[in-house]
Amino acid sequence: MKVGVLALQGDVREHILALNECGASAQAVKTHDEISSIDALVIPGGESTTISKLARSFNLFELISNRILNGMPTYGSCAGLILLANKVEDAIVGQESFGGLDVVARRNAFGRQVDSFEMDLEIKGISSPKFRAIFIRAPWIESVGTKVEVLAQVDGRAVAVRDGHILATSFHPELTGDNRIHRYFLDVVCKEVAKVSA
Ligand code: GLN
Repeated sequence: MKVGVLALQGDVREHILALNECGASAQAVKTHDEISSIDALVIPGGESTTISKLARSFNLFELISNRILNGMPTYGSCAGLILLANKVEDAIVGQESFGGLDVVARRNAFGRQVDSFEMDLEIKGISSPKFRAIFIRAPWIESVGTKVEVLAQVDGRAVAVRDGHILATSFHPELTGDNRIHRYFLDVVCKEVAKVSA
């Protein structure tokens, strides 16, 4: 299975490293051909407004959006979550999302850069110990559609969710060296999708 990490902006290298440590052969993708040829996609943390503008200006926006909406397994961390959300609160004017994840996400909901924090988080589907989660100008999820499974919460706000073939976290597992979320994406989400389409 070819896993691509969207390489327009953000912490691409860290995701590739984490995925490869899990046994995948992940590659950075940023052209039409590269994005067309992958089986699964990771959208990194970074700045959602920048990633969405670059996707638009490189003519990749519809391709990425269509591939996600057509069932390609996709994982987004932080900015990646925002880019997957069907609706975004506190977006900048004209900010677009690829969509596919049936949630309303609020950008920068936990506050500004100085309000960044770390905490040990219980995550459904990830066995103990708790996961050290790093939140950097992170979004939270205000509401979820009926099919969306909430995997983790902070103060009653969803921060990790799964919507069928889409996984998203408000935090950055790629920065911790703990690859359990990437492993969950590869071994659970991607494998289930492959089974259904086999
Ligand atoms: N606040 C950023 C955004 O809107 C996300 C921050 C992050 O990915 N660490 O994209």
